[in-house]
Amino acid sequence: MDKLVSLAKRRGFIYPGSEIYGGFSGFWDYGPLGVELKNNIKQLWWRMFVQERDDMCGLDAAIVMNPEAWKASGHVSGFADPLENGKMFNTMLMTSVGAAAEATNAYLRPETAGGIFVNFKNVVDSLHPKLPFGIAQIGKAFRNEIAPRDFIFRAREFEQMEIEYFVRPQEWETAFEEWRKNVHAFNEAVGIASGSVHEVEVADSDRAHYSKRTIDFEFDFPFGRKELSGLAYRTDFDLSAHAKASGVDLSYLEDTGERFVPHVIEPSFGVDRALLALLASAYTEDELGGETRTYLKFNKAVAPIKAAVFPLLKNKPELVAKAREVYAMLKKFVPQIMWDDNGNIGKRYRRQDEIGTPYCITIDFDTLGEKPELKDTVTIRHRDTGEQERVSIDSLVTRVA
Ligand code: ATP
Repeated sequence: MDKLVSLAKRRGFIYPGSEIYGGFSGFWDYGPLGVELKNNIKQLWWRMFVQERDDMCGLDAAIVMNPEAWKASGHVSGFADPLENGKMFNTMLMTSVGAAAEATNAYLRPETAGGIFVNFKNVVDSLHPKLPFGIAQIGKAFRNEIAPRDFIFRAREFEQMEIEYFVRPQEWETAFEEWRKNVHAFNEAVGIASGSVHEVEVADSDRAHYSKRTIDFEFDFPFGRKELSGLAYRTDFDLSAHAKASGVDLSYLEDTGERFVPHVIEPSFGVDRALLALLASAYTEDELGGETRTYLKFNKAVAPIKAAVFPLLKNKPELVAKAREVYAMLKKFVPQIMWDDNGNIGKRYRRQDEIGTPYCITIDFDTLGEKPELKDTVTIRHRDTGEQERVSIDSLVTRVA
């Protein structure tokens, strides 16, 4: 874990929040590579669960909601953890909205799901989706965790990717099973080691009273086996509670004329925990060319940098010019390309290995035509094996993308 935290800091993935002021417990800042990695994870999720499906749509609701919504959902009375003295402490972060006497207390959402339920009717009225269908949302959530710990695993500000999948009551088991598989499919697509993910059935006694079934997906983090994401069947609890408290009818009308409150399956993913599980899965130490090295075995889809382009020597203008040309051409098609001309090639390889770049591309004198048969070819070096190939510049985009 110490190695991961230090690599994340050193190479610009994750910094302690407000570090120059001594940090702020439970808050973390994502650096230049961290933000790319995080965006890639979110994009993969959005693509897989929203864009590639006909039965899903997206939403981006406000973080601050009418506090009545959190009363109805049970968070005001029940979203609490025990303090050392056994007293319960509500972990919703509070804020104040409006000026002076007008000010009202409000909460920073402790989960993104709330914004989905309060927009159920809006989405049904604007898109008229047929059951079963889901609404997905990615966004920040806040919890005043009593003891933030384990790096980004338990933070006070974090990000969630949540889905409320609305079904006819009798369909819940089929949908639950489908989403159970989807959770694994997503983990696999990200590159989270499947052998380290474990399903845990949450026992009746530990489940919320309205939930008929819950599975926790746990991951073998370096600090122990802990929850990565969750999947819950929440019946019609949320929609019914919001309907009752708001006085707005949140039932669904079938083509057959039947009217009822849909039931819901909720897959809930933590972006930061997925990123940490990915870092832990990708972190590799091996020996290459008689030297030990550290590298991140990211797949192409999540790697923050897809390829790095080097001129063999930085003091040869004709090499630099050609390398710049290749770099600019690639960047037009694949934006996440890095330029590096610092130090020798071996050092550049190691630097790219450490941030998980799948390919390094070197422009040398043969590229310029020193050996005529090699003109307009480059060396492409593969991160995991260290193997090098000679390929034509024309083939680079398909290789790297
Ligand atoms: P835990 O038992 O670890 O506190 P939870 O059961 O309270 O988690 P949920 O309320 O189910 O978590 O939230 C859904 C997801 O949001 C979790 O699976 C996790 O990925 C993420 N998450 C929850 N709390 C935090 C946190 N403090 N920091 C980072 N991610 C979190």
